[in-house]
Amino acid sequence: MILGRLAVGAAAAWAAYTWGAHLVTPGCVWRGPATHRRIALTFDDGPDPIWSERILELLARREVRASFFLVGERAAQAPETVRRIAAADHEIGSHGWSHRSLWLCGPRRTEAEIGRAHRLLSDASGRSPRHFRPPWGMVNAAMFGALRRHGERCVFWSIQPEHLRPAPAAQQARDVLRRAHPGAIVDLHDAEGVRGAPGRLLTALPLMIDGLREAGYDFATVSELLDGE
Ligand SMILES: [Zn+2]
Repeated sequence: MILGRLAVGAAAAWAAYTWGAHLVTPGCVWRGPATHRRIALTFDDGPDPIWSERILELLARREVRASFFLVGERAAQAPETVRRIAAADHEIGSHGWSHRSLWLCGPRRTEAEIGRAHRLLSDASGRSPRHFRPPWGMVNAAMFGALRRHGERCVFWSIQPEHLRPAPAAQQARDVLRRAHPGAIVDLHDAEGVRGAPGRLLTALPLMIDGLREAGYDFATVSELLDGE
């Protein structure tokens, strides 16, 4: 009976810490101001020495600057790619150290995931990340304090053309063009997470960029979008 009550208590505490944290997300952003016809393309899960490099080439050819939310331990394995992202004037944000869901992290592990990625990305790129995208979009109550300590802000997205299930490239492009709005933050993936995601993205991205430009949109980094620069 007591054990049962303890279990219920622990489950309730865990629910408040994880699920409950999604109800109060102070300072988190889903979109930028609608004052300008601007959109931020964001790429999660890299750096990948092959796919991220190809995305960089594509962005350079089309003169688009974007934001890359990098996984700390992958950045440690691909420092050259991190430097090239920074050198091309894209924004580097943090996607945590190991891509572990924060629902599975206690306060200490949460601080380690955010702090370790922050230090590595600052050293590797020469700039401190200002934005954090929670892996899997999952937050917990300890995340807010950790982000405050490291000067990062939590950034979700307003358009996500591919979630856990693969979506064909043409459908992704159509989805983004249909849902585009001023201040949109588009969530894309430039490394293997969902199977084959980066390959589909390479096909979808030119369609998205050209279509958005035709619709009168400019591109901005997340910082530019949120700072209203
Ligand atoms: Zn991710």
